[in-house]
Amino acid sequence: MYSHLFQPLQVGAFMLPNRIIMGSMHTNLEEIPGGFERAAVYYAERARGKVGLIITGGIAPCPEGCVSARSAMLTNAKEVAQHRLVTEAVHREGGRICMQILHTGRYGYHPAIVAPSAIQAPINVFSPREMTEEDILSTIRSFGQCASLAREAGYDGVEIMGSEGYLIHQFLTTRTNQRKDSWGGEYPNRMQFALRIVEEIKQMCGSDFLLIFRLSLLDLVENGSSWEEIVQLARALEKGGVHIINSGIGWHEARIPTIATPVPRRFFSSVTGRLKKEVTIPVIAVNRINTPEIAEAILAEGQADLVSMARPLLADPEFALKAMDHRANEINTCIACNQACLDHTFQLKISSCMVNPRACHETELQYLPVQKTKNIAVVGGGPAGMAFAHIAALRGHKVTLFEASDQLGGQFHLAKVIPGKEEYAETIRYYTEMLSKYEVNVHCNTTANAAMFSNHQFEEVVIASGIRPRIPEIPGIGHPMVYRYDQLLSGSVDVGDSVAILGAGGIGFDVAAFLAHDKEEPSFDDFWGIDMQYSNNGGLRPRRISSSQRKIYLLQRKGGKPGSSLGKTTGWIHKSTLTSKGVTMMSGVTYDRIDDDGLHITVNQKSQCLKVSSVIICAGQMANRTLADELETAGLRVHTIGGSADAEGLDAKVAIDQACRLAARL
Ligand code: FAD
Ligand code: NAP
Ligand code: SF4
Repeated sequence: MYSHLFQPLQVGAFMLPNRIIMGSMHTNLEEIPGGFERAAVYYAERARGKVGLIITGGIAPCPEGCVSARSAMLTNAKEVAQHRLVTEAVHREGGRICMQILHTGRYGYHPAIVAPSAIQAPINVFSPREMTEEDILSTIRSFGQCASLAREAGYDGVEIMGSEGYLIHQFLTTRTNQRKDSWGGEYPNRMQFALRIVEEIKQMCGSDFLLIFRLSLLDLVENGSSWEEIVQLARALEKGGVHIINSGIGWHEARIPTIATPVPRRFFSSVTGRLKKEVTIPVIAVNRINTPEIAEAILAEGQADLVSMARPLLADPEFALKAMDHRANEINTCIACNQACLDHTFQLKISSCMVNPRACHETELQYLPVQKTKNIAVVGGGPAGMAFAHIAALRGHKVTLFEASDQLGGQFHLAKVIPGKEEYAETIRYYTEMLSKYEVNVHCNTTANAAMFSNHQFEEVVIASGIRPRIPEIPGIGHPMVYRYDQLLSGSVDVGDSVAILGAGGIGFDVAAFLAHDKEEPSFDDFWGIDMQYSNNGGLRPRRISSSQRKIYLLQRKGGKPGSSLGKTTGWIHKSTLTSKGVTMMSGVTYDRIDDDGLHITVNQKSQCLKVSSVIICAGQMANRTLADELETAGLRVHTIGGSADAEGLDAKVAIDQACRLAARL
């Protein structure tokens, strides 16, 4: 099983034990007091989980190259000592670790940023200064110096970040490099910066120091690289002594999803396969590879020599170990939601994982064996109840879970039917496996009531009974054309060809996507205009979009643009998708009444009637505390988690985090 995935690979002086690379992810740990100690534990746990090679988050070689003013650099002996904590911890576990050197160029979020030309990035408020010849030469030297310090700190090698629209990438394309000197103009000039950095690092660190170059294989922006240019650079990098080429997909400013849930699994591996035919050094496939089966298939089909998984290693540090031990069914799968990882990273918060809140919190959230086994009841088998039951049982408690419906999963059963959110089923699968493994006594089709706890059979009672959808007080809300979102998504409703959605929060957007999804949908690359054949530089082509066959109104009472509460790194995808589908979004709406004519609203003091066949309520949620209140009134001490604790600001990240933290301390 997974015979390709677990085949060792000799790279330079290194023997990698398997083909799994933990891709670079910035966690913001290195920027906080005591952060390197925490990073050491975080990386060591992944090394213990048998990942073949770890690549750290990006570390700047000089102040101008930092992500933000307080970002981590490696420029002196004091910083070397901090990094050594990480490398020693990983090596103690028998792992291997390379440090990524990242110069952000015009993407840096601070005023001192530099770039080949003074062209502001569309996603940045800061404008870069054009680099002088001396700036360029000193930056090349800083890469070499940084790599040399990385070697001193005990790293096994470095990855040069040459993609995603960062500084080196900015030199490569005319989009951002409009220099008139020898660093601009024709492609051989534009690629000099990358090649000189490689040369400098080779000189400073020797050829036994692992050198990986992250090369953009698909820019997904106008005036990006052509395929011929990419191949030219790849061959030059190989000649320059680079040991491995890692794939980069898309600039950060590209308006095409590259890693979020709607991206089909392994969608971009074919471009890595294409490059593999052009070079003899190993190449790494990336993006939306989240199961050992997918990784194995990429290798077996000869599309890559190695596979990189970044977020899946946040979700499960034992990914490789479990696959190796034929326990792939026990892997906590990354569902590509970005909610606790990338969304946190871009908000300069510590990254973590929605389905594994221990990620980057290993030192403070520990699941230690219990001193005394308790008999614990859990009411509700949604994300909160399942996560609690898993951790409590893993620690050694005797756990009984009551679930009113016929299956575990709670609202994730509604989430998983949304187009592009099918991955949410993996979380239900994972917890179902874990509850079985740790022998949680699960009773489905059992609505718990106060009488069930009157004999004090359980030492602890945990209520995870979730939420109730809010029903707004609008005249006519009881009209037969009105449904709740859960009725719609559980498949029991036929809404007709025109629908008004009341509420444009996370669920309102999801419901709109569900309703706008037609039987005949364009493929992912057609819809987003991705040209894997490279007819144009950058790999773009016209999008194939068409309005939904259903007329959909997505409404909210507050002003401002709908969607402001959506995730930082995914909200734009939802908004762009619905706009492309012709969904009408309206803000500042007053709901006047619902009757046989449709939904009567007032916007900007003008009344109108939306003549819709159905109205779907997505007006937020309220805590389902009925049982918790009854038990507390009866004098029983209960713990509430997830929706039953507080529906305000609740999402699955909050629910699972609360659950795991309670289970860790009971
Ligand atoms: P629930 O999931 O509501 O589970 C509660 C469970 O308790 C249910 O299974 C219920 O049957 C059971 N129960 C209730 N009373 C009793 C009783 N008396 N006895 C026994 N069992 C009982 N969140 C995100 O973070 N990201 C997303 O992308 C996302 N997408 C979503 C998409 C949709 C369409 C929906 C509807 C929700 C989405 N959410 C998302 C929200 C997320 O699913 C919820 O925040 C999360 O499920 C809350 O978990 P919970 O365990 O507290 O409650
Ligand atoms: P939500 O995001 O808070 O949105 C609730 C919506 O209901 C808002 O648009 C609100 O806007 C409206 N509303 C509130 N009170 C109302 C009332 N009395 N009458 C009419 N409208 C009212 O909540 P949700 O959509 O129910 O989602 C629940 C949770 O799941 C949220 O935390 C959400 O983030 C999470 N979730 C996340 C995703 C994701 O992709 N990350 C997807 C789905 C759900 P107005 O008050 O302006 O009308
Ligand atoms: Fe994956 Fe979501 Fe966890 Fe990020 S938060 S690692 S995307 S499951």
